[in-house]
Amino acid sequence: MITGKTKIIGIFGHPIEHSMSPLMHNAAFEALGLDYIYIPFAIEPGSLFQATEAIRSLNLVGVNVTIPHKEIIIPYLDEISEEAKLIGAVNVIVNKGDRLVGLNTDGHGFVTSLKTEAKTDPKNKKIVVLGAGGAARAVAIQLALEGAEEICILNRNITKAQEIADVINNLGGSQAYALSLNEESFLKVMGDTNILINSTPIGMYPKHNVTTVINKEFLHKDLLVCDLIYNPLETTLLREAKELGCKTLQGTGMLVFQGALAFEHWIGVKAPVEVMYQALLQNLKQSKDSSIMG
Ligand code: NAP
Repeated sequence: MITGKTKIIGIFGHPIEHSMSPLMHNAAFEALGLDYIYIPFAIEPGSLFQATEAIRSLNLVGVNVTIPHKEIIIPYLDEISEEAKLIGAVNVIVNKGDRLVGLNTDGHGFVTSLKTEAKTDPKNKKIVVLGAGGAARAVAIQLALEGAEEICILNRNITKAQEIADVINNLGGSQAYALSLNEESFLKVMGDTNILINSTPIGMYPKHNVTTVINKEFLHKDLLVCDLIYNPLETTLLREAKELGCKTLQGTGMLVFQGALAFEHWIGVKAPVEVMYQALLQNLKQSKDSSIMG
């Protein structure tokens, strides 16, 4: 029930109709008996500055930020976390009263899923990331912050992969390389790789049966294969990897944990991860919608 005391959190995106975040967060509030509500806001890019200012004037607790606003919202905020600065994108804003603080929980959400669900610490691991878009950037940079030994980014557009590699190499820990997304590169890097991450949309519904981003001949059974795609829950890549004896990790965990971390930043209590997971899974199983998003 909404009361005079109900606190408001939202999500800014465009379009926003297919976001899973309202379901996950409202289920979490209900489970914990918290007097909060999470509302989707469809914000046109031209209205983003006014919308960001409204976080203050409407006294919102905070918001999630999604496509197409994650990068362009940065100049409108008062403070940005180190991770968000390195990633160059914000997916969470916390209203601290006198200032709006931008954070990025996408990469951290993936690493939490990796550690808790796949029981794998990225520290000292050799990792191959396929794709160099927003998700790849958040994941690859967070893996570097977590002490990965080597991160190889393979992308169609090698300039975008090189930009991520440069950010990582400037940190001075992990060694990062950029290569073209092709068989020659797979031959070069896959042999001694520990973790493979698909961050391209290849394999996503409705083209989930067409092809995989990497042929299974390049996989080996000691590999952990991760797909950031969550629709379908198990992609063809993950199914083939499982058949070869590889450990696998679905994209749902990243989505739930980025939300759980955001929840904790806004509210300061531990998020009911299992409740959020169930809310997401229930909806994903029912849905055949190709435009589903976080
Ligand atoms: P994005 O910014 O549009 O980047 C897409 C990347 O995939 C680009 O590097 C692009 O290569 C590459 N790509 C696209 N189509 C390709 C093709 N046909 N062949 C080869 N490469 C191709 O997208 P994003 O936001 O990073 O999202 C990527 C995937 O991650 C999506 O499937 C999305 O659903 C998923 N995701 C999951 C979560 C989660 O919480 N689990 C969060 C965010 C995203 P070029 O640079 O060469 O164009």
